[in-house]
Parts: sequence; structure tokens; C-alpha cells
Amino acid sequence: MAEETIGAQLSDNKEKINFGYVARALDKKWSESRKCPICGHEEWNISDKIFTLRGLNKFSEAYPVIAVICDNCGYSHFFNPLVLGIFDQEEGDCHE
Ligand SMILES: [Zn+2]
Repeated sequence: MAEETIGAQLSDNKEKINFGYVARALDKKWSESRKCPICGHEEWNISDKIFTLRGLNKFSEAYPVIAVICDNCGYSHFFNPLVLGIFDQEEGDCHE
């Protein structure tokens, strides 16, 4: 499926993630319906930054996540770019 179907846009801003890498990785993995489970719309936007999910325990690890957000209602999926195979931990950035 083309990048545009999930609202991807290429970004020239080096501090923001490359939407093209993320969109292509998601297109390879996202084989189920792309309908939002809340509102049924099928258009999604990709967050322009990598966030972290961190547990509240003292020694909890932080997991990098990229948010994919329903364009209509805001329901969000979170994808780990390490699992998608597009995150370079040394550079702290996405790559293909
Ligand atoms: Zn929705």
C-alpha cells in the first residue's frame, strides 16, 4: 500500500523521523484491516518524533515508540521501531 494511505509525508527536518522509512516498514507489517477500531476511518498520521514508554519501577527500561494516530478520532497505535527494524540505537534515529 502506498505511503499516502497512512498519511505519511517525507520530512526534511533532521530532528524528526523520516516518515518514508516508517511508512514502508508499516506497510510490510500491517496486513490486517486499517480501519480505526474506534471510529472506522482508515486515514492515519505518523508522529514526527520517537517517544519512549517507561515503567515506573526504579530500573525500568525505556522502549522507543512511534505513534500512529487516527486522523479522525485520535486513537493511537504505538509501534516499536526496534521491532520494525528501522531504529539505530547508536544514532538514535530511524533508517532503512
Ligand atoms: Zn478513529
